[in-house]
Amino acid sequence: DYRKKIAIVGGGNWGSAIACVVGKTVKAQDEVFQPIVSIWCRDSRKPGDLSPSIAETINSTHENPKYLPGRRIPDNVVATSSLLEACQSAHILILVVPHQGIPQICDELRGKLQKGAHAISLTKGISSSCENGEIKMQLISEDIERALGVQCSVLMGANLAGEVADGKFCEATIGCKSLKNGEELKKVFDTPNFRIRVTTDYEAVELCGALKNIVACAAGFADGLGWAYNVKSAIIRLGLLETKKFVEHFYPSSVGHTYFESCGVADLITTCYGGRNRKVAEAFIKSDKPLRVIEQELLKGQSAQGPPTAQDVYEMLEINEISEKFPIFASVHKVFTGHHGEQELYDSLRNHPEYD
Ligand code: 13P
Repeated sequence: DYRKKIAIVGGGNWGSAIACVVGKTVKAQDEVFQPIVSIWCRDSRKPGDLSPSIAETINSTHENPKYLPGRRIPDNVVATSSLLEACQSAHILILVVPHQGIPQICDELRGKLQKGAHAISLTKGISSSCENGEIKMQLISEDIERALGVQCSVLMGANLAGEVADGKFCEATIGCKSLKNGEELKKVFDTPNFRIRVTTDYEAVELCGALKNIVACAAGFADGLGWAYNVKSAIIRLGLLETKKFVEHFYPSSVGHTYFESCGVADLITTCYGGRNRKVAEAFIKSDKPLRVIEQELLKGQSAQGPPTAQDVYEMLEINEISEKFPIFASVHKVFTGHHGEQELYDSLRNHPEYD
């Protein structure tokens, strides 16, 4: 078969929603793509649990009742609990797992992929590498490239999973190193209601997607504390400026107009109003419950990516001795770890270096 096979790695909320899009696009282009899309879903059952796995449930009901209830996953999306079975014959891998899960997945897939395969990451977070004892900023897509030896693009955008699964209009941005891969990936995702733009400014695309989750946590704290609309708008504006400054610090060659793409300002706004990070942060600041209890209650145990990203970003800022230039990012981490309260968070806005 000369047609390309697509595998989705991750059957959580976003993975299941993107399966709704990709299942349809490949079916409509069966001269280019193999019509069956594999989706790997982690088998999270405890030993002795005799209920069906998520993969079995998707295959029999075409729905993921745990993470995307009420939405039909197309029949040509076939789920499996075996990572190798899903990925071994794939030409295009769509990685959409929480960033904590990436190392293990890369370990399992190392050396096992098709020649000429390439990947696209929908995962949000940052990473680091250690060279000669020095810790360096690294993108998740670079982790994937290094581990798997394939080129890895990214897709980020204002894409609340439920709305995407419902086929409501939205846009997304693909960041790629090679436009050839970028244009092929556009075919995988682009529909009349999921419009794609492609750019080679992949570092900014990926970091906008990752860092907006931290800003959305600040917006959630603001909501939980009953702060005014104007405050939340300031958080969004200052948060976008911190995002831009972060990209410019670590990737000075980035082109600078990506903030106006869907992955920039649009994703930031949608996540600050309708995202799970916002919701989790609001609940966190209003209660004494630990974060993982809140995630259990609100996200069925899925992990909001803002808090761990805030931690990783804070460590990266500290290593580079630039934390004071990023007071919102730093304060979000400190609120989650109990070192900042309402007053310090408020001061991170009022004393922001943008006013100096
Ligand atoms: P969360 O729902 O995880 O906050 O993410 C929302 C999002 O990324 C919208 O684009």
